[in-house]
This record gives sequence, structure tokens and C-alpha cells, in this order.
Amino acid sequence: MPVYLDHAATTPVTPHALAAYSEQAALGGNPSSLHASGQRARRALEDAREKLAAALGAHPSEVVFTSGGTEADNLAVKGLFWARHDADPRRTRILCSSVEHHAVMDAVEWLERHEGAEVAWLPCDPDGVTSADAVRAELARDPETVALVTVMWANNEVGAIQPIPEIVEAATQHGIPVHSDAVQAFGHIPIDFAASGLATLGVSGHKIGAPVGVGALVVRRDAAVTPVQHGGGQQRGLRSGTLDAAGAAAFATAAMDAVGRLPEEAPRLAALRERLADGVLAAVPEARLSGPADAECRLPGIAHFTFPGCEGDSLLFLLDMMGIESSTGSACTAGVPRPSHVLLAMGLTEDQARGAQRFSLGWSSTADDVDALLAVIGRAFQQARLAGMAGHESTIRTASSR
Ligand code: PLP
Repeated sequence: MPVYLDHAATTPVTPHALAAYSEQAALGGNPSSLHASGQRARRALEDAREKLAAALGAHPSEVVFTSGGTEADNLAVKGLFWARHDADPRRTRILCSSVEHHAVMDAVEWLERHEGAEVAWLPCDPDGVTSADAVRAELARDPETVALVTVMWANNEVGAIQPIPEIVEAATQHGIPVHSDAVQAFGHIPIDFAASGLATLGVSGHKIGAPVGVGALVVRRDAAVTPVQHGGGQQRGLRSGTLDAAGAAAFATAAMDAVGRLPEEAPRLAALRERLADGVLAAVPEARLSGPADAECRLPGIAHFTFPGCEGDSLLFLLDMMGIESSTGSACTAGVPRPSHVLLAMGLTEDQARGAQRFSLGWSSTADDVDALLAVIGRAFQQARLAGMAGHESTIRTASSR
């Protein structure tokens, strides 16, 4: 079995969440149907909504189930933009951090291309943190024209936690709603939606041990959000579509477990991550660890490096052949590896950004997983560096002929 060090991409379904899914899926029923099976599915769904709300510090009526994080982010960003712009057409600006996931970035760029939005990209510091000062500076230019602010809770590549309370405070002074993509943060660090003052918050099931295909947008009761998809009017018309009781049950189960275990699990992962980071830097002194140095300011389970002189994809393929599954941290576009926008925003050069590799830990990670990586990382680095900045193809050929 390969060693899986890519939990930030997706983490295995936990046995408990799988049991909750199977039980509900076997029962079936459409939660909107009026007969007994429908009402049983409805009870399971509302029970899941209550549990998920409790895990997020939200009211059940604020939880809107979606198909995942991407849909939650699209509903938030487009829905807030349309509602605010309809209420006052001067509101065309979106303040967006430059380290957002594509689920937010591309939604914002779509609004720019099709709906007359103007995007102000908020800079970040070399650790990948967007400051509240950057938000204040943009707000000061003309707060009347700002439709919304969107800053993720924690970054998916380098794990940097963003100063959400200060950002919300700055925006709230002008009555501007803030969306936060908490897909990577939820279940790994404490989240309290009510205390955050956010208008909307996006989460995803498959990052915390539920199956792929379920997520949620938490929408504050007084936040106006225009729906993206139209149909049966489910979930107060905010998100039409037949409700997935089994997915919701699995998500709620995984969420309750992750949040309940957080006090022990976060330090366990942080210790494993230290072991990993120290070991990689000992084996490859040239490597550079990315993100905040202060453990309080980053996610416990992500260790992101740049390896000078290496193509991240080469390292990934070499590690894969040695039985270790990792990630470059950023998605490639149509199969073409591009340097990560997050690393470029942090001030890395394209060459530095090309050598990126993310190792991410999760509920099933063990010290043996980390040690398996440490046993091969030096060799993988040497081989990847030999392959140098050669293209994809030749790298794979070189690697598989060894
Ligand atoms: N936002 C962040 C920060 C993510 O890491 C991801 C997934 O990688 C997403 C959004 C998208 O979530 P999903 O895969 O559930 O659509």
C-alpha cells in the first residue's frame, strides 16, 4: 500500500462516516416527499443539519447543504455579489485575497468578465498571510463601491491561517459582508461561525472524512444571497436540488468526530508535521519550508516545501514510484504544470515556485508514514534535481528507467 501524504486533497472516508452514509443510503427516500420514507429521510437530514451547525457554531437554519466546497464558494461569492449589487448598483468591487483557492478565484474572475465586477486582489506577506491592513487600505479608497470581501480561513497550499476576526471587523464597520472559504480549516482548527461575524462560510465533507459530493455554505440569517441554481426551491430556495440525506448524515458524523477529537488530534498532527519538517530539512538542507513559522498561525497537518532546482511534478512522480503520495499543492491547468499563484503572491520567483511539494497529514496518518517519506526524500530530491527543469515527459522517462 502506498503511503498517503495528500490529505489536503482528500482524506479517506472514516469508518464511522461510511456507516452513517450506508445506513441512510440503504433506507433511501427523498426528504421532500410527504410519505413515511420521505419524512424519515427528512428527519435524518435535519438531524445532520443540527449536528453540522453545532460543529460549526452556527444555527441549523444557517446551514445550506451543497455538493462540496466549490459549489459553496460559488454560491457565496456570486450570491453575495448579486444581492449587494442589486441593492445598490454602485457596489461593483470585490476585495479578494491573492491566495484563494480557484473555487473562489475563478468565481470572482467570472463575475469580472460577465457581471461588471472589479476585483481588487489583496496582497499577502511572504508567509502567505493577507493582512487586515490590506483590506482597510482597499476599503478606505471607497467603501460605498465594495460589494463583498472574500478571504479564506486557511490556505490549502502552505497552511497559512488568515486574520479573519480583524478582516471581518474592518469590513463590518462599513456594513460589508465577508465570505470565508474554510474548506481546509474546518475540523483542523476551531471554527465558531457565530463569533466570527462572517456573512458566509464554506466547508466540504471530503476534507474531513465524509465522502466526496457533500459540503455546506453557512449563511448568516441576515445575509442576502441570491441563488445560483434554480429548481425545486429546496433549502429556502437558496440551493434547489434533491437533498442528499445520506451525504448529509456522513458529513455531520465526520464533522462531529473531527471537532470532538480536535483537542487531541491537532497536537498529534502538529507533532507528526514537526517530525516530517525536521526530517526533510535534515535530508535535504537546500529545501525551504513555506508558510508561517509560528505553529499558531498555520494548519497543523500541512508541510509545504520548495526544493531548489527541481520540478515539483518530477519530485511527485519519483516519490510516487517510491510509494509516497504527495502533491505539488496547486492544480495544473489542462495538464500543464504552472507555478502556483499562491507562491508567486508570496514573492517566490517562478523557478522557486516550480519546485513546490506539499505533504499533508490527516486522521489516518502515522509516524510510520512520515518515516517512509524520510527514508526516500533525499534520493528522490537528488534524482529530481538531475532531471532538472526538463519537461514532464523526459522526467518520467528518466525516472522509470532507473
Ligand atoms: N477551497 C479550498 C481551500 C480547497 O482546498 C478545496 C479543495 O481542494 C476547495 C475549496 C474545493 O472543495 P471541493 O473539492 O469540495 O469542491
